[in-house]
Amino acid sequence: MCLTDMARPVRIFAPAGPVPSPPAGQSWEGLMDMALAEALRAEAEGEVPVGAVVAAPDGRILAACHNQPVGLHDPTAHAEILAMRTAGAALGNYRLNGCVLVVTLEPCPMCAAALLHARLAGVVYGAADPLAGAVTSCAEYLGWPGQGPWHMGGVQAEACAALLQKFFSLRRGV
Ligand SMILES: [Zn+2]
Repeated sequence: MCLTDMARPVRIFAPAGPVPSPPAGQSWEGLMDMALAEALRAEAEGEVPVGAVVAAPDGRILAACHNQPVGLHDPTAHAEILAMRTAGAALGNYRLNGCVLVVTLEPCPMCAAALLHARLAGVVYGAADPLAGAVTSCAEYLGWPGQGPWHMGGVQAEACAALLQKFFSLRRGV
């Protein structure tokens, strides 16, 4: 698995222009720190180390989840899916209007499609995924004109990618 392209610099895709403001009282780096803490929990459980948080516009953290497909015997239990489910339950709403999701790895096609259904305001990710990323790397699921959330990649990309690179290099035994 080649992960050398994961640690790209910050790239802002939509809206064009300055970095969007984070939820009240939060910073993008601080939210990514929370997602990274979740990724470490995944690593400790032997799961691919990916973590995600959902923040409401008022800064409340509605969900902080990590990858658990192995432990939950559930191929859909990616960090983003679990975070959206948790946030939806917290709000009592299947739509996460105005919320942002921050995740350590560029979402895959399954998660990107679910992100569209959730009607999030924005999606922020850390490392790019050159093999399966469905935001910009391999597909542009969030780029539907007038429908998709704004999205931004590269926040703490090196730290996010380093966790994944360590995980996969240990698995390869190199
Ligand atoms: Zn996914």
